[in-house]
Amino acid sequence: MPGITLLERGWLSSNNILLHGGGEGALLIDAGHVVHAPQTVALVQHALQGEALRALVNTHLHSDHCGGNASLQRHFGCTLHMPPGDWAAVQAWDEDRLSYRATGQRCEPFKPDGCVHPGDTLRVGGRAWQALAAPGHDPHSLIFFDDRDGIVITADALWERGFGIVFPELDGAAAFDEVADTLDLIESLGARWALPGHGAAFQDIPQSLGLARQRLAAFRADPARHARHALKALISFHVMEVGQEALPDLLRWLVAAPLYTTVWQRIGRPGGSLAACGEALVAELCAAGVLQRHKGEEGGEIVSA
Ligand SMILES: [Zn+2]
Repeated sequence: MPGITLLERGWLSSNNILLHGGGEGALLIDAGHVVHAPQTVALVQHALQGEALRALVNTHLHSDHCGGNASLQRHFGCTLHMPPGDWAAVQAWDEDRLSYRATGQRCEPFKPDGCVHPGDTLRVGGRAWQALAAPGHDPHSLIFFDDRDGIVITADALWERGFGIVFPELDGAAAFDEVADTLDLIESLGARWALPGHGAAFQDIPQSLGLARQRLAAFRADPARHARHALKALISFHVMEVGQEALPDLLRWLVAAPLYTTVWQRIGRPGGSLAACGEALVAELCAAGVLQRHKGEEGGEIVSA
């Protein structure tokens, strides 16, 4: 795909999509996680091939999409643009209103220069990327569509096999309808290529939409299934963030981050305590090979990614 470099990242970091602009400078979509920020800077530097990085745009402000913002701004001196919904929370760096305190995730503070609103157009490299509102996974998320070549940047609204956790639902706000509407919006674009927030680029968008709708129907039929899936995904995300952790510390982290108590209460307080529920979920993740556990020097259990 001429003029586009997709930096496909492993889990924890979102993909970074570099839209080359030649002499006018390039534009980067999403910044990865703070833990990988030095690697992100190095990958972008290499992919630029001497071109300047003019601007960085976040699809949404989850820690795996904007954790590298500050490092990229420092290194490249680029401007930073974000969806308008979280603008006030970012200006005040209010970790309660951003997702970082609720989820117990890390993100380096950053200062955006402006917003990209739904309906705005990003012009770079001869393409015009239309910003579209894509609520569901995150109420303020944007996706971007290039009409000329039929390319859609889908963030966490659609992956090749699935979509991101529907965060508002975890807090009790109905958002499955928004997920469905966003999938319909993506279908209506008739794109030939999708560049997702995680995983490789894909072309069989109808098949991915079918899988996503099946998954959505299963979550609608059994919201507790979505909540348990979310808890497991967020626990493994945390272990990837810290690398490894003693099991008691991991369970203390789980109990201290407010979102997990909310979710646990909503699904009927399984295990009798959030710590017991968390231990059972860790065991499931280890049995599935997502996480590993081993005895530490002191004899206690260590959980690693
Ligand atoms: Zn996300």
